[in-house]
Amino acid sequence: MHSKPEISLDPDDWAQARALAHKIVDDAVDHLTGVRDRAVWQQMPPAVRAGYGSAVPVDPTPLAEVYDAVKADLMPYPTGNIHPRFFGWYMGGSNFTGALADFIAAIDGSNLGGGDTGAAATDRQVVGWLTELMGFPAGASGTLTAGGSMANMVGLTVARNAMAGVDVRVEGVTNLPQPLRFYTSDQAHSAHQKALEGLGLGSRSLRLVPSGADFRMEVAALARMVAEDRAGGRKPACVIATAGTTNTGAIDDLQAIGALCRAEGLWFHVDGCIGAFVRLAPQNRDLVAGIEAADSLALDPHKWLQTPFECGCALVRDGTQHFAAFNLHPAYLEEQPRGLAAGRFLADYGYDLSRGFKALKLWMSLKEHGVARFGQLIDQQIALGHYLAARIGAEPALELMAPVAINIVCFRYRGHGGSEAEIKLLNAEIMLRMQESGVAVQTDTTLAGRHALRAAIVNHRTRRADLDLLVAEVLRWGRLLQTG
Ligand SMILES: *Cc1c(COP(=O)(O)O)cnc(C)c1O
Repeated sequence: MHSKPEISLDPDDWAQARALAHKIVDDAVDHLTGVRDRAVWQQMPPAVRAGYGSAVPVDPTPLAEVYDAVKADLMPYPTGNIHPRFFGWYMGGSNFTGALADFIAAIDGSNLGGGDTGAAATDRQVVGWLTELMGFPAGASGTLTAGGSMANMVGLTVARNAMAGVDVRVEGVTNLPQPLRFYTSDQAHSAHQKALEGLGLGSRSLRLVPSGADFRMEVAALARMVAEDRAGGRKPACVIATAGTTNTGAIDDLQAIGALCRAEGLWFHVDGCIGAFVRLAPQNRDLVAGIEAADSLALDPHKWLQTPFECGCALVRDGTQHFAAFNLHPAYLEEQPRGLAAGRFLADYGYDLSRGFKALKLWMSLKEHGVARFGQLIDQQIALGHYLAARIGAEPALELMAPVAINIVCFRYRGHGGSEAEIKLLNAEIMLRMQESGVAVQTDTTLAGRHALRAAIVNHRTRRADLDLLVAEVLRWGRLLQTG
């Protein structure tokens, strides 16, 4: 009987594949060591963009050619967050060890949904480290997530279920005895609204507590709103405090909010996507005192721990409540006393079943550098935030727009003044010109109705000279655009 040999996806020529892989690593090192000399960001030329419209590749292409296309058409057009002068939004700068780990993780190939594997043990260990670093007690649990949005979603799911007053997994939100109310400041991240919409509670269940001139939640106003809701027959369920707001880096009074939650019997969730890791920084850790008392906490290693995207983490104080919210074992996912399916499934702590090995990139870089170094780096970046604020304060043409709590600096070019709309137009144009020139990336926001440029200093490569250049360029473009 005639039969063709079976095919696979392995290279026909392993020696050739090995040589190419070595070249890719060499190029990767060049890419990182040369990062300072490239544009932070640049727009894709039309011809390159058009290439992304090419047809489905039915027939093969040699890997070397595929890689050439990646090098030519993809690598020059990144977000730019690995560059020391990327100050946009709030993103980590990635790191080489994390990149190696992502490669190794894919070579290992494990699915961490369940199973007794080295990968799952690594995941459990790194989550255990984070639990310990955040001061959570034994019995706490956690799960790595795609990012902070999903970490908050996991924490708020456990909060909803714990506070529902019915078995919400069975009854659903339509059978809640009382409408639930969650509270967060008007500076909170939009991920919370999205989470409550997804949880079936609706955005109306999220009450926005006003923030003060320091952009921290007004705790007295929170207490009033809780009392008001109780009197109105609604059930106050959860307060979402923010440790490091996205707009300005403001850190809510975690101790006061935690105390109020205990007194009122509310779930205390902390969104620590930006600031939780300040707890590792010896000179600034007091800023987040009280975070260790949270019932649930969202962290984002892909921000201040520089883990390559993606890596978020949800921690829950009471591991049994966490497990109760997510565990589910159909016939084809039975747990076994021995063998591959032995042990708790990691999938029982979140929404995903199949789970990648994102733990390794965090585990390897924490091992390599040690947690102390990450703490020093966070102190360094907070010091850089204050340095930039001082530079701005010394320039009459610039105006600081919010107090600097940590590593986020909001400011604008004052110029000759003008209406708010004119100032916004001018500053947005400065921001866009600087992005297009490739010299630095900053983004913008609006604070109490006033437009501001915003610089978040998260990249571990940033130095004082980079901030000097940022200030000089804002001034240069400001003058140019006003006279032009
Ligand atoms: C970034 C951020 C989030 C969302 O995290 P992602 O990792 O982008 O999903 C949530 N809350 C705060 C305070 C953040 O800064």
